[in-house]
Amino acid sequence: MTAVPASIPSPDPDLLTAYLDAPYADVSALVRAQLAKRAEILDLQIEQPEGEFRETVLEALRDMARTGHTGLGFPQQYGGGGDIGASIASAQAFGYSDLSLMVKAGVQFGLFGGAILHLGSERHHARYLHDLITGKLLGCFAMTETGHGSNVQAVETQATYDPRARQFVIHTPTTSGRKDYIGNAAAHGQLAVVFAQLVVGGEGHGVHAFLVPIRGEDPQPVPGVTIEDCGPKLGLKGVDNGRLSFDEVRVERDALLNRYADVDDEGRYVSSIDDDARRFFTTLGTLVQGRISVGGAALSASKVAITIATRYAGRRRQFGPPGSEREATLMTYRVHQRRLLPLIARAYALSAAQQDLVVQLHESFSFDDREPRDRRELESRAAGQKALATWHTTAAIQTCREACGGAGYLAENRFAALKADTDVFTTFEGDNTVLLQLVAKGLMTQFREDFNDLAPIDMVRFAAAAAVETVMERTALRQLVERLRDAVPSKMDDAGLLDSAYHVGMFRWREAHLRSSLARRLKRGVDEGLDPFTVFAGCQDHMITMAQAHIERVVLESFVASVARADESVRPVLEKLVALHALTTIEADRAWFLEHGRLASARSKGVTAMVGRLCADLASVAEPLTDGFAIPEELIRAPIARRG
Ligand SMILES: Cc1cc2nc3c(=O)[nH]c(=O)nc-3n(C[C@H](O)[C@H](O)[C@H](O)COP(=O)(O)OP(=O)(O)OC[C@H]3O[C@@H](n4cnc5c(N)ncnc54)[C@H](O)[C@@H]3O)c2cc1C
Repeated sequence: MTAVPASIPSPDPDLLTAYLDAPYADVSALVRAQLAKRAEILDLQIEQPEGEFRETVLEALRDMARTGHTGLGFPQQYGGGGDIGASIASAQAFGYSDLSLMVKAGVQFGLFGGAILHLGSERHHARYLHDLITGKLLGCFAMTETGHGSNVQAVETQATYDPRARQFVIHTPTTSGRKDYIGNAAAHGQLAVVFAQLVVGGEGHGVHAFLVPIRGEDPQPVPGVTIEDCGPKLGLKGVDNGRLSFDEVRVERDALLNRYADVDDEGRYVSSIDDDARRFFTTLGTLVQGRISVGGAALSASKVAITIATRYAGRRRQFGPPGSEREATLMTYRVHQRRLLPLIARAYALSAAQQDLVVQLHESFSFDDREPRDRRELESRAAGQKALATWHTTAAIQTCREACGGAGYLAENRFAALKADTDVFTTFEGDNTVLLQLVAKGLMTQFREDFNDLAPIDMVRFAAAAAVETVMERTALRQLVERLRDAVPSKMDDAGLLDSAYHVGMFRWREAHLRSSLARRLKRGVDEGLDPFTVFAGCQDHMITMAQAHIERVVLESFVASVARADESVRPVLEKLVALHALTTIEADRAWFLEHGRLASARSKGVTAMVGRLCADLASVAEPLTDGFAIPEELIRAPIARRG
């Protein structure tokens, strides 16, 4: 007997999967099946000590490389699949399995391989792509240094051109210039893409990427390279993160990944992009796929946690009505419903937005005719969604662990590794807070090409001078009309609570308000004669809130649009998820909406009541909704979630 009334028809999980996996359903299913065959890695993660598990992960990586699914994003002539969108779908599916494997594969194929593919030229492709796709050549992506993580433009590693020898001299000048946290460096990597300040003829040209051998056939470092192990970490014990220092290591002239700049036969620096900062950000922009993969894989990990906790909630019984023979399931309880159902709704929402992002990436990288502005919008969206998805994952895993009580604490039920391994997703591939600043800057400068770096000075001046008028013009009238409507509660308003146009309107209004008030604050600071850095620093929290509101709106719009395209038999339940996702978000920020006169107190209470009703309705179909994630039983693995 289930204590939860079945108030809505159970959706067909296969149709939900088709909705969630489109347009890469085949690839997603194939990679999940391949990972399911190797699911014992999830046990080995618990049983093996670090050193042994690193070798297990390496073996699994090479094994997966043999399936061809890790090379989907590379050109077919080198053994790849020639389909960048499919490659992201594949990388996302890795998030259902062991996350050390996902990260190690991400470093090898996404970062190391992606840098050679996107920053190198034909000669690099011909020499390296085939071997790296098959896992014969293992590599690192060495960007971060001990002294600089988020501010990559300030890395200290030097690459000085020696015209006589026609070589670059790679050198670590200080301990803070040592490469740090580098995946694949401590044990397995043979070749590293090293980001360093290029100096030619005594003149600095900014950060460029170089291919530098770090190990030969034997595991010893090559002369001049020092490799240290970063030591035990909070999680990801199967990833060999290391530190690299270079003592005047010489590499040939063609070691420079030369898509955007080169040193010619005469020893002159040449580049198709004149401005150093713009070249740097164009270079980084081509690596956007790694960020998108991390956001997608994080979402997959959150779905594992949500699936386990949802199944447990349907089976675990505690307390119940006095005198009854059986206790009630956890899912009977409103608090439990409120913990899990909004997570399911948010996972669906973020998945819909992720699909759109992957399609946008695929189009942007498959066709050369895209406007630079489109690329910047893509980079901004990728940055914002990565932040939202990874924060969602951290929060979801914690909530789901708690929702499983003591059982959730046992390693066999997966939360220990999920928590530890995904924790750093909020930091690598761009720290989330720093990424949201990039989003804000893009919005305030309307994605103009000349605002590529994080330098606050130009951004503040531009936003102060131009953004105020345009943002205000666009939003002022609508704001006034909507504000009047919502300040006056009426019975009719309750009906609107389930209307997606109402949800989108609220999200848009919040974003527009935050944007125009930010522009006003920046302008006021400049008008008062404050220096732009002080103005920028003083408004930083406002910028982050605005960026987050923007991405929340983008996610909601994607969700609404994708539900309209879904099979009509699952559309009603998806529409309830849209409403739950939107109203939970509004509820979480209701203090702000109330403060700004956008919600009357009666309506605010109505939102809370509606969230409760939706949770109760959806509780009866929570399990089919998580079945839609299509995680193979072998990968769910947790005994508390086992079926039959
Ligand atoms: C397990 C692991 C694997 C990694 N793998 C690799 C790899 O393979 N290759 C590689 O190159 N790197 C790798 N990294 C490094 C990773 O990319 C960096 O840790 C990340 O970019 C953040 O840099 P940081 O650690 O220096 O943090 P910092 O930049 O010092 O940030 C520290 C804190 O300060 C805040 N902060 C920074 N700047 C600002 C600002 N302007 N305004 C407000 N707040 C700010 C951040 O939000 C953050 O909370 C890895 C890291 C880890 C932990």
